[in-house]
Amino acid sequence: MSLLRQPLLLLARSEKVKTLVSTIPVSAGIVNSHVPGETTEAAVEATARLVGDGLLVTLDFLGEDTLDAERAEATVAAYLDVLQQLAARSLSRNAEVSVKLSAIGQALPDSVAGGGHKIALENARTICRAARNAGTTVTLDMEDHTTTDSTLAILRELRKDFPETGAVLQAYLHRTEADCRTLAYEGSRVRLCKGAYKEPETVAFQDRLDVDKSYVRCLKVLLAGQGYPMIATHDPRMIEIASSLASRYGRAKGTYEFQMLYGIRPEEQKRLAASGETMRVYVPYGTEWYGYLMRRLAERPQNLSFFAKSLISKK
Ligand SMILES: Cc1cc2nc3c(=O)[nH]c(=O)nc-3n(C[C@H](O)[C@H](O)[C@H](O)COP(=O)(O)OP(=O)(O)OC[C@H]3O[C@@H](n4cnc5c(N)ncnc54)[C@H](O)[C@@H]3O)c2cc1C
Repeated sequence: MSLLRQPLLLLARSEKVKTLVSTIPVSAGIVNSHVPGETTEAAVEATARLVGDGLLVTLDFLGEDTLDAERAEATVAAYLDVLQQLAARSLSRNAEVSVKLSAIGQALPDSVAGGGHKIALENARTICRAARNAGTTVTLDMEDHTTTDSTLAILRELRKDFPETGAVLQAYLHRTEADCRTLAYEGSRVRLCKGAYKEPETVAFQDRLDVDKSYVRCLKVLLAGQGYPMIATHDPRMIEIASSLASRYGRAKGTYEFQMLYGIRPEEQKRLAASGETMRVYVPYGTEWYGYLMRRLAERPQNLSFFAKSLISKK
C-alpha cells in the first residue's frame, strides 16, 4: 500500500485531476464527507450542525506554502470573515480557528517586507486579535520540521499578548517530548498529533510503533502537566490510553479535549461527546481541498478502504 504514497502526492498537485475528480459523483461524496465546502458559508453551516450535535469545532481555511504576499493577505481576510460570521451566528464560543503559518506568509523569502517569519507573525497577530474580539481562540497548526523552530518562536511572541493561542506538537519528531515539557504550563493549550509530513530519520521516528510510544510519552507529560492538552487522534488505542492516563493524573473531564478530523470516525466523535468528554472537530474548508484530501489518502493509504467504508457506514 505504501507504493501508493508517491502517486497520490503527485496527483495532489494536478488541477486537471481535481477537475475530473470533482465531476464524479462518488468522488464528490468523498470530498463532501471530508471537506464541507469551499465557502465561508458552507464552513459556518457545518459548524452549526456539529455544534448542534454537542461537538466543538476548529476551522481551517485550506491553503499552505504561500509564496505570494497578496495570497497571504487574502487568507488573513478569509479568517477575519469566518470569525465575524461565527460571532454573528453566536457560534464563536464553540468554534475556534486553526491557522497554518505557511498560508499567511511564513514561506515568503527574506527579500519580501522583512521576511516570512515577520510577515507570518504580524498576520497571525491580526487573526488572534479578531478571534479575541469574536470571543474565541486560534491554534497554530504545525507543518514540516523545517518550520518547527520558527512556528514555536511565533507562538511565544503571540502568547505575550494572546496567551490563549494553541500550539501543535507532532509525536513523530524526536524533539517533541522535550517540547511538551516546555509547553506543559498553566493555560497552555497544546494539540498533540502523530504528525502528517514525510520526515527524515534524523529528526523523526519512522516506525509506527515508535511513533505510538512517543505519543504515549508525550501524553503523559501533557496530562501530568498544568496545561490544556488537546488529544488529536483517531486511534482507538491512543484514545483509550489517554482516557486512563487522564484518570490516573486526576484530570477532570473538560480539563483536556479530544480532537478528530471532519468526516473521520464521526460516530466515535459523537460517542465521546455523549460520554461527557470535550470533543472538537477540525473542519477544513476552501477551494484548496483537493491537496488536503489526497494527503489524507497518501499519509495512510489504508484510508482508501476507510474512505470506502466511511461512505457506506459513516463511521
Ligand atoms: C484535529 C487534528 C489536527 C491535526 N493537526 C495536525 C497538524 O497541525 N500537523 C500535523 O502534522 N498533523 C496534524 N494532524 C494529522 C495527524 O498528525 C495524523 O497525520 C492523523 O491524525 C493520522 O493519525 P492518527 O493519530 O489518527 O492515527 P493513525 O496512526 O493514522 O491510525 C491509527 C488508527 O486510527 C484509526 N483511524 C485512523 N484513520 C482512520 C479513518 N480515516 N477512519 C477510521 N479509523 C481511522 C484506525 O484504527 C487506525 O489503525 C491533525 C490531526 C487531527 C485529528
